Amino acid sequence: MDAIGLLRRAGLAVLDLVVPPQCPTCDRIVPMQGGFCAACFEMLTFLVEPCCDRCGSQLDRRRVTPFCDTCIEDPPIFSRARAALAYDAASRQLILPLKNANRLELASTLAPHMARIGAALLSQADILVPVPLHVRRLRARGYNQSVLLARAILRGRGREGPVLIPDAMLRLTHTPPLGDLGASERARTVANIFAIRPSRAQAIAGARVLLIDDVLTSGATANACARTLREAGARDVSVLVAARVADPRAEWLPST
Ligand SMILES: [Zn+2]
Ligand SMILES: [Zn+2]
Repeated sequence: MDAIGLLRRAGLAVLDLVVPPQCPTCDRIVPMQGGFCAACFEMLTFLVEPCCDRCGSQLDRRRVTPFCDTCIEDPPIFSRARAALAYDAASRQLILPLKNANRLELASTLAPHMARIGAALLSQADILVPVPLHVRRLRARGYNQSVLLARAILRGRGREGPVLIPDAMLRLTHTPPLGDLGASERARTVANIFAIRPSRAQAIAGARVLLIDDVLTSGATANACARTLREAGARDVSVLVAARVADPRAEWLPST
């Protein structure tokens, strides 16, 4: 190849590096890397305070108690949960490709919003524990999206703050996707499928744990993990997710 050819090739390589940032949902050109275009931003429902202090569901501003009715009647095992987004058609376009289509960079798109709503939980946590996948699913997918989210949340934070233990928990049983199951069936399905990795037991004992997951659906998975962590001596277990369905214990649930 002559010199001009080489330069042209180098120029193209540089061009590749300066491709303008695109909206993670619709590929439109946007001013900032990782930012949404105005139309997609408008479609997403970012959750803001006041949230139920227990489960993080959006509360009416006029509500007097800091908890939702569901948490008053049947409080979850975890102390507190927070979600960045409502799980709906718009946020599904971020979460499903992260889970199923190798769009690993979407973890970095979601993480700052999780860090925003979970700021208090992050400042109180000693360790971040991602909800584990069964080894068979992990092999098929090649990555655990909750580990990617946890890593992205910690990126840019100093040495202060929680430490990520990506392999703290094990999922012992391979379960089918829980999408079609109601809340009580979900709870039964995941009741005894989690365990602490023996080599991590010491790190869990006495620690304030922040569990990381992509979606909080019925709360069954988060509760099952929280129970396992508490039994292993965790001082506190809270939950931070990218998105949550409006009522975590509704019998009808969208497929995840
Ligand atoms: Zn867009
Ligand atoms: Zn609640």
